[in-house]
Amino acid sequence: MRFDVLTIFPDIFDSYLNESLIKRGIKNGIIKINAHDIRKYSKNRHNKVDDKPYGGGPGMVLSVEPIYKAVSSIKNQAARKKSLKTRIILFSTRGKKLDAKTAKRLSKYDALILICGRYEGVDERVAKHIADEEISIGDYVLNGGELASMVLVETVSRFLPGFLGKIESLEEIKGSYPAYTRPADFVPQKGTKSWRVPKILISGHHEKIKEFRK
Ligand code: SAH
Repeated sequence: MRFDVLTIFPDIFDSYLNESLIKRGIKNGIIKINAHDIRKYSKNRHNKVDDKPYGGGPGMVLSVEPIYKAVSSIKNQAARKKSLKTRIILFSTRGKKLDAKTAKRLSKYDALILICGRYEGVDERVAKHIADEEISIGDYVLNGGELASMVLVETVSRFLPGFLGKIESLEEIKGSYPAYTRPADFVPQKGTKSWRVPKILISGHHEKIKEFRK
């Protein structure tokens, strides 16, 4: 799956994408993530991509034109000639709340174009004419859509075949349960009571362990 992220801060993504499962997913060709600088698509001499809101009010709004140009350019890239099944997503506080069901649905596409807002938000015409859907990652306000896009990339990737080493790691299949590892007895400080792993888990009794995890 290919993710194209539109942002005014493309460098934010570098360190995060270079670690752990995401890094391995990229290396194994399961995912590809490109961060595009929206400023590159500004026709303004100073690469300006925002402007004052009509009707007044505080802050600035990301303009529709550079985003339109960026999305068009990504869609037209040579690699896309084979017409990838693409979904365009705008991050917005007013969007549909992201959950596992939505992530699974999105994992069926070949490509996602993710538009990260900043400042007071994005010209509403992006939501109306460019994006296929608007997504929020929770009922709180972030400074921009960059963190939201990383959350989406990560949770969607977990649904892609081969992304997780063992498919059993997928919570949807195994369910989520409290996990413990060695030592069985942890004494935080000399003379204090130890913190113990539930006996059942050490018993070797598979049926009871199954029951405990349920
Ligand atoms: N004034 C705007 C907030 C803008 S925050 C409002 O009331 O909606 C700037 C950008 O950050 C938004 O355009 C959006 O892209 C992103 N963002 C902020 N909070 C978010 C959230 N909970 N989920 C997804 N994106 C969010």
